[in-house]
Amino acid sequence: MWFDSHCHLDFASFDGDRAAVWDRAQRLGVDGAFVPGVSPAQWRRVARQLAGLPGLCWGVGLHPYHLEESTPAHWRQALDSLPQCYRQLGACAVGECGLDARLAKRGGPDLEVQVGVLEAHLDIARLLGAPIVVHVVGAHGRMLQLLERRGPLPAGGILHSYSGSAELVPRYARLGFSFGFGGAVVSDRARRARDSVRRVEPQQLLLETDAPDQPIGGGGPGRRNEPAALLQVAETVASLRNIPLDALAESTRANALRLFGVGMAAA
Ligand SMILES: [Zn+2]
Repeated sequence: MWFDSHCHLDFASFDGDRAAVWDRAQRLGVDGAFVPGVSPAQWRRVARQLAGLPGLCWGVGLHPYHLEESTPAHWRQALDSLPQCYRQLGACAVGECGLDARLAKRGGPDLEVQVGVLEAHLDIARLLGAPIVVHVVGAHGRMLQLLERRGPLPAGGILHSYSGSAELVPRYARLGFSFGFGGAVVSDRARRARDSVRRVEPQQLLLETDAPDQPIGGGGPGRRNEPAALLQVAETVASLRNIPLDALAESTRANALRLFGVGMAAA
């Protein structure tokens, strides 16, 4: 059985067939998934939308993209209510939050503004004893500087869709971070991501689709990724690490359940 450690199953592109999409994934052996929180309006909707579907857990956090669409007064209000929402909604992680230099470059919130919001998430994760799920694009130097100054979190964290170099893997690992890999590794041009896949310790390795984003073979109009595609990611990761598929399934699923603390029955 497989666990999709990052999948936006609540997004509108699944509104017409969410249950069928999840059913298709389950029939292929994907029996668990983490659905990130991205904005306060979405937190409650996710918990409601997904409560009827088995094997799913969710987070509460402010995605860097949300900061672009909102105002500092709204972020502060959302961050104040985050611990209470985490408990009320039965969330299993703080996030998705993070640093996105590309967003800052195209006129979104400045990276140091994003750092301030991320620090608030890190404080909350520490307070709650929850794992944190982070998105880091073009900002690994700043991220490591911040995390190394603050020290490891009690419940660790996850670097979703890890985009840093293999050389940075041990530095993040020492800080208690695990690494999620998705469809990008399927392309043999993804040298950097593939090097990182080989470098990560088995107990810190996770698989993800990031559905509906990052469809294998590239995006484009009408192309939607879905959690059933996790198996293609898995085949690539198993061959890069030279291990059998069932061993990869067992270890990555156990890693996800340990991090998210989800009490799903063992496969
Ligand atoms: Zn995401």
